[in-house]
Amino acid sequence: MSVLTDVLSAIHNNHVEIIDLTAPLESTTPVLRLPEPFANTINFQLEEISRYDERGPRWYWNNIHTGEHTGTHLDAPNHWLSGKDGFDVSQVPLRNLIGPVAVLDASDRVVDDPDFLLQIDDVRAWESEHGPLPDGGWLIFRTGWDTRAADQSEFLNVDNTGSHTPGVSPECARWLAEETPIIGFGVETVGTDAGKAPELDPPFPCHERILGAGKFGLTQLRNVDRLPATGAVLVVSPLPIVGGSGSPARVLALVERSG
Ligand code: MN
Repeated sequence: MSVLTDVLSAIHNNHVEIIDLTAPLESTTPVLRLPEPFANTINFQLEEISRYDERGPRWYWNNIHTGEHTGTHLDAPNHWLSGKDGFDVSQVPLRNLIGPVAVLDASDRVVDDPDFLLQIDDVRAWESEHGPLPDGGWLIFRTGWDTRAADQSEFLNVDNTGSHTPGVSPECARWLAEETPIIGFGVETVGTDAGKAPELDPPFPCHERILGAGKFGLTQLRNVDRLPATGAVLVVSPLPIVGGSGSPARVLALVERSG
């Protein structure tokens, strides 16, 4: 039996479960809202070309209007000034798009502290329990934020002091980017950085460090609670937008089930 035959057989027999980590794409899918004076992305939108009518009697199709950074999406290194000479989204090596994934769950700490910032010690504590972060793999930071994804205002959680969503401390962002073997960092929130990231030093430290190191970001994931802390395989499939800074992506996880 070949390796691939074994994998297909395991999927068929439900020994390997496929979990969809992707937010549905529709006009109500939450998108980032930057404060003035910054420009913002559009919401996802379908534009009907024909629907079994005089414009096309036997077929239905749409144009899509979307930002690169809409819904579940990949941030390419060139999204950020610090990574501007790095890969665009069409250049991401395929071997980086399939890899092991570690899941660090901080959801019980985020409940009472929506501004929670992941620290180096949190990741070190995870490693002492689960082993080292995966070489060439992904770290997903679970916060429970996907439970808010049906409602843009709950998801962005903005009040008169700004947005309150969890993220990564500047020290931890630098450490993850420069001193760990992961290739990418994934979150359930609208972006990889915290809501208060504009006020941090450097601003948006996760973007600054992770993309600056030629690594990747992955946002707006869901169903992360169904992943084990280690052992799952992530499959990330952004569109190969030539020159693009990111792309909506279908993100799947393969999880082995015992018994
Ligand atoms: Mn993005």
